[in-house]
Amino acid sequence: MCVPRGMQEPLGYSQSSLARACLLVQDACGMFGEVHLEFTMSKARQLEGKSCSLVGMKVLQKVTRGRTAGIFSLIDTLWPPAIPLKTPGRDQPCEEIKTHLPPPALCYILTAHPNLGQIDIIDEDPIYKLYQPPVTRCLRDILQMNDLGTRCSFYATVIYQKPQLKSLLLLEQREIWLLVTDVTLQTKEERDPRLPKTLLVYVAPLCVLGSEVLEALAGAAPHSLFFKDALRDQGRIVCAERTVLLLQKPLLSVVSGASSCELPGPVMLDSLDSATPVNSICSVQGTVVGVDESTAFSWPVCDMCGNGRLEQRPEDRGAFSCGDCSRVVTSPVLKRHLQVFLDCRSRPQCRVKVKLLQRSISSLLRFAAGEDGSYEVKSVLGKEVGLLNCFVQSVTAHPTSCIGLEEIELLSAGGASAEH
Ligand SMILES: [Zn+2]
Repeated sequence: MCVPRGMQEPLGYSQSSLARACLLVQDACGMFGEVHLEFTMSKARQLEGKSCSLVGMKVLQKVTRGRTAGIFSLIDTLWPPAIPLKTPGRDQPCEEIKTHLPPPALCYILTAHPNLGQIDIIDEDPIYKLYQPPVTRCLRDILQMNDLGTRCSFYATVIYQKPQLKSLLLLEQREIWLLVTDVTLQTKEERDPRLPKTLLVYVAPLCVLGSEVLEALAGAAPHSLFFKDALRDQGRIVCAERTVLLLQKPLLSVVSGASSCELPGPVMLDSLDSATPVNSICSVQGTVVGVDESTAFSWPVCDMCGNGRLEQRPEDRGAFSCGDCSRVVTSPVLKRHLQVFLDCRSRPQCRVKVKLLQRSISSLLRFAAGEDGSYEVKSVLGKEVGLLNCFVQSVTAHPTSCIGLEEIELLSAGGASAEH
């Protein structure tokens, strides 16, 4: 058997190095199988592209194309085979079969017997030539191709993610939205103006992430990831079963047509317009035409540690005290929650609501807020804000056209965000 792909399988996932791995294998006659077994991920990766002998395997299931699309979208990336296949029962490969073979319609799911199961690399067997490494494409090319439901592999830089992952421990059963880009979407000379500057990648709970990748996602710096065998869906990319994410920078040679794989500078976002979809990011500029007073509130935080749960005690004449610092906070910092309505030239008939970050709230209220922290709504009306980087939370067309935005801080090379 040849091992064309080493994958990680979601069932029984644990943080330990031993996980349920999953290998896609192909024999000399072209038959595919998926082997599920307990393995370290690094071992599974070592087997990729090698000829192996598989001993002590048990057939769990025979799956067909109609019922199990996910595995066949992966098999299709390995079809037609790279070398002539053998006909079962004969020794010599049959040349003419190669071009006329229909893609496989069935595949066996195998599991290794706990005591007898064994996979060993065979050095000399030429069957390893069946191996076809994933074809790596740049994001521009992936967006220009219109093959829904097919697999694609690419390198990209993650510039924003939702949710922000502070703790690795909270990640079981997680859904992650990654906003990614690459040099072909960001460089003026490379890019196609009809294409977006960033792209949404949905990482489904079924996609197993290695500890290396989880650590990178929990950090605040932008990271380069290799997305291997992701699925193309409508306007987005989905990482699900059989997709592998690796912490890896692209080699220059694999970024087709691009002169460099480094992003050319600060990341550019698309401006908000009528085509901006939900769960994307965009930049926004506009005039404040209203404040959502029903959701506006403010609270004092410790000026030393940023703790927002201050106690106010009558015996200290109403002064705040911080439990974390064990001291009286004489000059607490006032934090606010503020959502404003904007009049945007790029969306003239649309109600654009933005949940602002502290930094933008402070600059908006710089001259409007009084000593006690209160402010007159009318003093912020007519003020210009932007460009703001925003995540698009909701887009509704009926009964009125509305867009709900949340101002965000992109992952920056500088590290931790200023928003605490
Ligand atoms: Zn404190």
